Amino acid sequence: MPKQTKLAQSLPATVPFIAPEMTERARGRAFTARLGANENGFGPAPSVLDALHSAGPEIWKYPDPSLFDLRQALSDHHAIPPNQFILGGGIDGLLGTLCRLFVDHSTHVVTSLGGYPTFNYHVAGFGGTLHQVPYKDDMADLDGLLASVVRSNATLVYLSNPDNPMGTMHSASAIEQFAEALPRTCLFILDEAYIECADAQNIPNLAVDQPNLIRFRTFSKAYGLAGARIGYGIGPADLIASFDKVRDHFGVSLLSQAAALAALADQTYLTETCQHITQARDHIAQIARDNGLIPLPSQTNFVTIDCGQGGYFARAVLQSLADQDVFVRMPMVAPLDRCIRVSVGPAAELAAFAKALPLALTQARG
Ligand SMILES: *Cc1c(COP(=O)(O)O)cnc(C)c1O
Repeated sequence: MPKQTKLAQSLPATVPFIAPEMTERARGRAFTARLGANENGFGPAPSVLDALHSAGPEIWKYPDPSLFDLRQALSDHHAIPPNQFILGGGIDGLLGTLCRLFVDHSTHVVTSLGGYPTFNYHVAGFGGTLHQVPYKDDMADLDGLLASVVRSNATLVYLSNPDNPMGTMHSASAIEQFAEALPRTCLFILDEAYIECADAQNIPNLAVDQPNLIRFRTFSKAYGLAGARIGYGIGPADLIASFDKVRDHFGVSLLSQAAALAALADQTYLTETCQHITQARDHIAQIARDNGLIPLPSQTNFVTIDCGQGGYFARAVLQSLADQDVFVRMPMVAPLDRCIRVSVGPAAELAAFAKALPLALTQARG
């Protein structure tokens, strides 16, 4: 057998996410409500579908590896120079490229215990050492993260704000102070996958030239393009230029570039979608309360619901929901795993959740 690296041999054969399609295939029946993967069930703008249709016949061409038009459009949108944007195969893909630039077996990396697992997966894939700081009151513990960075002399610290899986968000000033307090030898990876769903006053105002800060955004969530696999980072020009050393230059498809360009241009639709998301969040929270459960405040496109008991109970609720064809996920680590996490979706899907939840709770209690 050709020999893999020692590192590859040491890694567990993980399946980080069990996709709803895998469950559907295994049991031979489709879900009626797809509310588990934080997708945006309201879908992309009609103008995006038109752009995809127009770009279709061009698919024989390689895409623009410099993503020139999109970087220009992002530059106009954010009023930040185009050389401060890196585009890639979603935030997930970009996190992998970033780890390739910064992580080897001598690198220390800090994140939250129970936080976004894809980041941990990339760190492990390059041999880094992870330090995981427990959440505090269902929020990432900023003081704890900072202390861990100092203690381990970490090169990277990762924070999802708004947070996945809890949906909570720190104030703008808390994030600004955290960025300021961080040693300059540590890169702050600020994952803002849900930022369009957040209240404007919560969005931190950070210097985009700060040499140790990179912010990530995506077209997967509020823009409704998870299947297109396209996201972007905003950072200092020299860090952004470094991505060119190792990135997959043709990795963002021609159709994905066209879709993202059209999505960015249709801010009216984005505003409407965000209103639908806010309404759906309120609806999910009400369903939770109607069943005696506690919804956590959310600044994302999902609501995390405290089921009030341990992980065993939430897992039983989840299983019964799945048996009733409602796909929902939950945080993986205690004490967060006392919760289930319900993504927003159209009214019919939320109605299916509302209908299934009482029986799920009865079954879990029995
Ligand atoms: C959904 C999610 C992502 C994935 O973004 P893609 O652009 O689809 O790869 C990244 N980070 C967080 C915190 C997420 O919840």
